[in-house]
Amino acid sequence: MTDVFREFQSLFDTHKATLTWQPPTEVIAQFSELYNGIFVGNQRLNLTRITSVEDFWEKHLWDSLVALNLTSLDIPTMAKVIDVGTGGGFPGLPLAIAYPEWHITLLDSTQKKITFLAELSQDLNLKTQTIAARAETVGQDPIHREQYDLVTIRAVAKASVCLEYALPLLKIGGVAILYRGQWTPKETSQLLPAIAQCGGELIDLLTCETPITKSQRTCLYIQKKKPSDPHFPRAIGTPKQSPLAPV
Ligand code: SAM
Repeated sequence: MTDVFREFQSLFDTHKATLTWQPPTEVIAQFSELYNGIFVGNQRLNLTRITSVEDFWEKHLWDSLVALNLTSLDIPTMAKVIDVGTGGGFPGLPLAIAYPEWHITLLDSTQKKITFLAELSQDLNLKTQTIAARAETVGQDPIHREQYDLVTIRAVAKASVCLEYALPLLKIGGVAILYRGQWTPKETSQLLPAIAQCGGELIDLLTCETPITKSQRTCLYIQKKKPSDPHFPRAIGTPKQSPLAPV
């Protein structure tokens, strides 16, 4: 057993009350391999500024997994999932390890990150798919549009831009999880018209504190209720230049 494995095991144990799911030993071993792989990749690619074991556990593993704490979430066992703007593979890779029966696609516009994630997934024996493309393009591609049960998106853009990237990819009834940090009721009201415009409904909101550094995390759960307007997502760059909402 490596030091990273022991530290992850101890952190999951110490903070077990903060997650509804506890990883078995072999899953903790995979998380340690993920840490080592990201650590190596970071030496040539700018994947993450988070490098200490404890920070990685809290800001990448715990943070990716906490969104699934919402017990009312009804995700099919063999869900089709896409992580938009996955960067160094977050939250997509921790979810692929925790939910091996899901079919997870990692999407990012940066080819070198995607090449790295494809190699890392293979090393970790994960069946993830990888795509190097813009969310605006993929959202208009019939192979991907309205195909997913779950879309995850963290730290990619303002919430309304994330919404425009995510909602067209969802099947009717599917759910997008927008991972946010600090979030206020005013921001929720500002986002609601854009949610409706994209064919969605805000079905829940999870607010919590990270267990070590005590910073605020908010997950917005948006369910697709009707087909997204064919104009969404708009052309490359337009969602960021002219967002559907101020937040
Ligand atoms: N989701 C990861 C995380 O939370 O650690 C990475 C966040 S990183 C700050 C944002 C990533 O989104 C970058 O890797 C960038 O290439 C990607 N990205 C930004 N806009 C995008 C778009 N329109 N389509 C696909 N990827 C995009």
